[in-house]
Amino acid sequence: MMLYEYEDHLIVVDCGVMFPDAELLGVDIVIPDLTYLRENRERVRAIILTHGHEDHIGGLPYVLDEIDAPVYGAPFTLALARPKLEEHGLSEFADLREMHPGKPFEIGPFRIELVHLTHSIIDSGALAITTPLGAILHTGDFKFDPTPTDRQVSDLHTLAEYGRRGVLALFSDSTNVERPGMTPSERGVSERFAEIVAEAKHRVLISCFSTSMHRLQIIADLAQEYGRRLCFVGRSMFRNSEIAMQMGRLHVREGVLVHPQEISKLPANQVLAVVAGSQGEPMSALSRVAVNNHRWIAAEPNDEVVISARVIPGNEKAIFRMIDHFYRRGARVHYHDGSYPPVHVSGHASSEELRLMLNLIRPKYFIPIHGEYRQLYRHAELARELAAVSGEIFLLESGDVLEFDENGARRGGRVPVGRVCIDVGSLGEVGDVILKERRRISEDGIVIPIIAINEHTGELEVRPEIVSRGFVPLDEAPDLVESARQVILRTIEVSNLEEVADWGVIKEKIRTALRKYFDQETGKRPMILPVILEV
Ligand SMILES: [Zn+2]
Ligand SMILES: [Zn+2]
Repeated sequence: MMLYEYEDHLIVVDCGVMFPDAELLGVDIVIPDLTYLRENRERVRAIILTHGHEDHIGGLPYVLDEIDAPVYGAPFTLALARPKLEEHGLSEFADLREMHPGKPFEIGPFRIELVHLTHSIIDSGALAITTPLGAILHTGDFKFDPTPTDRQVSDLHTLAEYGRRGVLALFSDSTNVERPGMTPSERGVSERFAEIVAEAKHRVLISCFSTSMHRLQIIADLAQEYGRRLCFVGRSMFRNSEIAMQMGRLHVREGVLVHPQEISKLPANQVLAVVAGSQGEPMSALSRVAVNNHRWIAAEPNDEVVISARVIPGNEKAIFRMIDHFYRRGARVHYHDGSYPPVHVSGHASSEELRLMLNLIRPKYFIPIHGEYRQLYRHAELARELAAVSGEIFLLESGDVLEFDENGARRGGRVPVGRVCIDVGSLGEVGDVILKERRRISEDGIVIPIIAINEHTGELEVRPEIVSRGFVPLDEAPDLVESARQVILRTIEVSNLEEVADWGVIKEKIRTALRKYFDQETGKRPMILPVILEV
């Protein structure tokens, strides 16, 4: 999420989600900290989306829950955002406005133009934001794909035109700065897909991101060419392909498409299924297919399975486990292993394309965005070598403020940033305490002593019971259990009647005593949750 402000006007560019790494246990998604936006709610004039990927639109429901502002996006971007708002019951209130390349519009002092650029998703673009101080070019995610499947090539003319007139600052995608050369076209995967489909004797299952309309179009064309029936499996895949077909952005010839429940009735060599779940997400369609746990489709010997996506760091284990399951069932798996032609190409510009962007724009100031710090650093270095930037290059991190005025640009202060963890379903934020607790449970387990106390006498009715999960196998450690019982009994013995009657106090005393004991005996610090039953 980036904010651009001029006097009393603030516009938001993109609001994404991040998928948590393993250290954020059980957290479903991570959204940006909205503190600054909340504090400046009155000044927010618009939210503008560069394209429909989750890391650019996924946080929209959470932002619109607090901020009342129109949302601008290209048609396909808004089409992907709409169902998210519906899920959160926000679609009635949301003011979604289409924007189109070459059709600039004004928001307060800003004049905004979407400049079409290619990316792994269709309807993606840069934003040219003209302010009273000069023009800003914010690239969003891009690559210069000369042969996109929808034939909508990057609008280099408009970029160059802005460059010619003078751009105050360029904010450019740094994701692939470490890669030499040019990123291959989305069409790059079609050669490999065609090889696989042409040679397949059995079914072909291809997995990719459900927003990759370029890939879905390639697959749909291959289905028709090789006389296979096409189906989309998985909720997001089904939904997004429907949206794209309705919008005329995905073309499937009549009679080619079948519903997934009909797959089992078709001869295996006539099936081409596009299945969601390229990251091995445990509940996704592809993972279920791999372990024969899907309603309509199971992996069979001689199936060709294609995973057309990169392995997002953190997902390696899940993906490779899934691939193993497919091999066990006799299927053959084609994944992004460096083989050529590739089953996947990146959606981000490599270094030659980044150089071209810098040369077209030749900004006064340059700010690399989208990437880890090393990538921002290398992008800055690349710009310096080119001498395409007449003024300064700023290496900014999340929360840094950059200020522009008639005299130039300089670092401002910082605004609060950070990650807010969300448990989907509860719709609530997950605080640090909860995360710490989950971490503790995952490492050292949980122990629940159950103590029955007579409410009148304050005495124990039966011997304490102890159950545990993820700690040590208690059935194999009778001595440990017995000693823990003694610890509980002694704690109660040395407590007075009032303490025992006050459950909060006695629970805390038992917890402290057991914690100390388990730490001594086992070196572990499980979470201890005493339960007291009144009898
Ligand atoms: Zn993207
Ligand atoms: Zn992105």
